[in-house]
Amino acid sequence: MNTFVYNGNPARVIFGSGTVSRLGEEADRLGVKRLLVLSTPEQEAQAREIAAHLGARVAGTYAKAQMHTPVEVTADAMQTVEQLGADAVVSIGGGSTTGLGKAIAFRTDLPQIVVPTTYAGSEATPILGETEAGRKVTKSDPRILPEVIVYDVDLTLTLPLSLSVTSGINAVAHAVEALYAAEANPIVSMMAQEGISAITRALPLIQTDPQDRAARADALYGAWLCGVCLGSVGMALHHKLCHTLGGMFNLPHAPMHTAVLPHAVAYNRDAAPEAMARLSKALGGGDPAIALYDLADRLGATMSLKDLGMPPDGVEAAVEQAMSNAYWNPRPLERAALKELLERANTGERPTGD
Ligand code: NAD
Repeated sequence: MNTFVYNGNPARVIFGSGTVSRLGEEADRLGVKRLLVLSTPEQEAQAREIAAHLGARVAGTYAKAQMHTPVEVTADAMQTVEQLGADAVVSIGGGSTTGLGKAIAFRTDLPQIVVPTTYAGSEATPILGETEAGRKVTKSDPRILPEVIVYDVDLTLTLPLSLSVTSGINAVAHAVEALYAAEANPIVSMMAQEGISAITRALPLIQTDPQDRAARADALYGAWLCGVCLGSVGMALHHKLCHTLGGMFNLPHAPMHTAVLPHAVAYNRDAAPEAMARLSKALGGGDPAIALYDLADRLGATMSLKDLGMPPDGVEAAVEQAMSNAYWNPRPLERAALKELLERANTGERPTGD
């Protein structure tokens, strides 16, 4: 008998094309009237355009969201929240913008509407990773979980191909680790397998034609499922390594996940045979570590951490930090094997076969 515990997070999800036109309706449904619009500096114009659907409900805009949610940025944004008397936030963008909205919600319990424009999946989780003094600390709290997600596939059409690929594989990483999580359960595994299939099927089509709306919809749907997986069960070695590398060296989030994932899968391969069988099926067969590496490589992703900005002495330092306060993992953490894993990811070597 398969004994399990399933914890579902409440979610209201609007999915489709042109769905941002429903933002006003969603704000009214929440009973909020003074929304603070959040974005990165790069997406400020797009965010303002989308926020026009909120009309007079917009109290102001804060367009300084940054990757890895630095606490200094949140402190600065909190002043704007207070000055404007905002009663909700609307985060328009990728995981960085969603992260800022979550950091504000954690401090204020304000409701959040998220309009995701990447495949990061953060919008579906009660998890917040904040960076302070070179260390990324993750917390989970019901206040952090966004109240409403408005997925509008049209917004993903502008996502550059390279970020579409790495963001998609970032989402796949959530589902991969959900398959072998300590709390793995049949519902989450079903979503994980479906999410991985949808994204990995869509990415080659997006590579051929980034305007392929059906493929974009598939990828966004998969990203949502993978985000739900991330929010439902604990993550393992792969996420620990990426949190460590992100916090220590500020490496770009999605590309770093893409370079590390095949090696984390290779590390856990023999310790989680059932998860690997499902993963292989979702990827269309074969050794899953190799399949993930080859897919990302074919899609033009940078497979070497060194090329993403990892410093020369980074491997040793990252192994030390990853070994301290380790997450649960199906295979125990072994210093020498972890060093080898990161050295391979650092140089961008293909994982060895099973
Ligand atoms: P991002 O949000 O940093 O976006 C990268 C860049 O792409 C930004 O300049 C952004 O403005 C731009 N961009 C985003 N969407 C675009 C679009 N459609 N068109 C054009 N440009 C666009 O990248 P990300 O990978 O989505 O998010 C990374 C962050 O999310 C990290 O801080 C990571 O820790 C966090 N994250 C958190 C969770 C969680 O559950 N807590 C999950 C996944 C990621």
